[in-house]
Amino acid sequence: MPELPDLTVVAEELARRVAGRTVLEASAPTAILVRATPAELGILAGLRLGEARRRGKFLLLPFERDGSVERILAANPMLAGRFWITSTRERVRARTGLRLKLDGGEDLRYVDREMLGKLYLTGPAKLDEIPGWPEMGPDADDPDLTLDAFRHRIRRHPGELKPLLRNPRFVAGIGNAYSDEILWEARLAPFRRRSSITDDDVARLYQAMRAVLGDATERLRALVPPEIQTQHREFLKVHLRGGEPCPRCGRELRQIGGREATTFCRGCQPPL
Ligand SMILES: [Zn+2]
Repeated sequence: MPELPDLTVVAEELARRVAGRTVLEASAPTAILVRATPAELGILAGLRLGEARRRGKFLLLPFERDGSVERILAANPMLAGRFWITSTRERVRARTGLRLKLDGGEDLRYVDREMLGKLYLTGPAKLDEIPGWPEMGPDADDPDLTLDAFRHRIRRHPGELKPLLRNPRFVAGIGNAYSDEILWEARLAPFRRRSSITDDDVARLYQAMRAVLGDATERLRALVPPEIQTQHREFLKVHLRGGEPCPRCGRELRQIGGREATTFCRGCQPPL
């Protein structure tokens, strides 16, 4: 599942490579992923792509005319959605939810093997109509999310730490993989309850969140371009490494759950 670091780097690469290019034709080869009619998609022809950015787990792609934004594509790739820049001549694969033919002989496509992603095409003032958007908390890397602000917000959210980090109403952009990495870095067990942790623990959690996401974003900037459709997770320290030794204490990492697995170390993330 693409998370904050993945989508940040994809947005940066899209801004570098497709911003300023004109959409020649927009279509939805697999129609069910994009929340827009063919007529609404048709409006995109002739518009220019603006600078992509990320908000939470959404990738935002503006479409402009004479410098003003007319439409925004808000894409939440969920488990497996990927953007892909490729030659217009490349075969259109199954499960292509959106195809934008651009000037210069390339396409920007959205492909989703799980078909769980959600693509919204909306007006620039209407992002609040997207389910979950108005309630979204600050991005986990938002400069305004200081330690004090984080302390203030966390008081309102009881429950276990892993679901807390993944809750976009608390902080936006963190999913299953990076929540494991952050909790390991902070030496906090995923099942600890927020009400059981100290002020020092909260500070360590905040610092771990910033460090893990910042470090991953830097690594991905070097690894991802130009192949933005490929997700890199090989540098993660614990997520999905159950059975391997903990990189900090050497104890065997525990892993529970299947596809939405949680990996942690019982040595340096004690239950209490
Ligand atoms: Zn350990």
